[in-house]
Amino acid sequence: QISEAEVALFSVSSYACQRRTTLDNHNSNLTDALSLLAENAELSNEDGRGVAFRRAAALLKALPTQVISMSQLRGLPCLGEHSLRVIKDVLENGVSSEVESTKQSKRYKALKILTGIFGVGAKTADRWIREGIYNLEQLRDSGQTLNRAQKAGLEHYDDLNEPVTKAEADAIGEIVQKAVNSVLPGSEVALTGGFRRGKLTGHDVDFLITHPEEGKEVGLMPKVVAWLESQGFLLYQKTTRNSYLESKDGPARPASNMDRFERCFSIFKLTKRKEQETASHKIWRAVRVDLVVSPISQFAFAVLGWTGSKLFERELRRWAGHEKNMSLSSHALFDNTQNKYLRATSEEEIFAYLGLEYIPPSERNA
Ligand code: ATP
Ligand code: MN
Ligand code: MN
Repeated sequence: QISEAEVALFSVSSYACQRRTTLDNHNSNLTDALSLLAENAELSNEDGRGVAFRRAAALLKALPTQVISMSQLRGLPCLGEHSLRVIKDVLENGVSSEVESTKQSKRYKALKILTGIFGVGAKTADRWIREGIYNLEQLRDSGQTLNRAQKAGLEHYDDLNEPVTKAEADAIGEIVQKAVNSVLPGSEVALTGGFRRGKLTGHDVDFLITHPEEGKEVGLMPKVVAWLESQGFLLYQKTTRNSYLESKDGPARPASNMDRFERCFSIFKLTKRKEQETASHKIWRAVRVDLVVSPISQFAFAVLGWTGSKLFERELRRWAGHEKNMSLSSHALFDNTQNKYLRATSEEEIFAYLGLEYIPPSERNA
């Protein structure tokens, strides 16, 4: 029995972008449960619930020690009634009954399997489930028309559901660097996404490409893709051109967190090193890679926007809007009070404009 006086109390800021969240999570029993419910909500198109569970999980990730008693959570932000109920269940019974029943539900299992296909989102998976498709075999037998992305996703299903290691990310980084240098010498490649935050594995590898001379980056992506294709490195690619300048609603107020950079969603064919070869004797594996090209003038914003985590980004934008009357995107920061764009050449400057203490990538794992 632990007395109230003995349990540690926490004091935590309410925005994730005010907190330092490392990968060292002392409450994974709780955050795993909440993340699963968040995922289930997102897969069911209940975004509000999804964000609420994500915020609650992120708060627990930022705590310096393990929570052992509900009384420690008193007064903490971000913990709604539903999340508290789940936490209580886990603390008292070791598991959450809601999480367990979700995990076992036919619908959740099917959503996981079907959205595990690259190119398949919650909406498509939901439609298939309503048509009685719950797994890959049923999907193949159904004769559903698949688009190019989904066909590639199905073909490389096992590889793409196998986590990408840091070593594989670095190997792909070398290939991308080589491609970029071959088509435009002087270009720079930055590793972003989870690997920049220090994660040891990821679901894909994210790169941002720029050139120190403004304007030189225009038209770069098709050349990079052509080079990669000519060398046999691509199993799939879809390139989207930059739509930043032609957008009507203004750059700092995008409809969603989707930015308008020239980008390429791809599947790389990565040759395995000898010691990584498996019993199947397959000498290569498929890896999801995101390539994004940014002009140097927007590079700091692009790096910040593509480093994540997704919740950290969402919270940064919420902070900017609600607390600073500013609009932050992966392209720019607009000050609505002064009615002007704020230029920045580093992430540090952007945090300073926002009145936030600088949080390095390794502490953005909210
Ligand atoms: P993982 O290890 O699972 O890949 P991650 O943090 O790298 O984790 P990603 O989905 O690769 O997750 O996203 C990386 C970053 O890029 C996130 O900050 C996300 O907000 C941003 N991002 C992803 N897709 C887009 C997009 N279409 N438009 C703008 N930003 C995006
Ligand atoms: Mn990623
Ligand atoms: Mn990505």
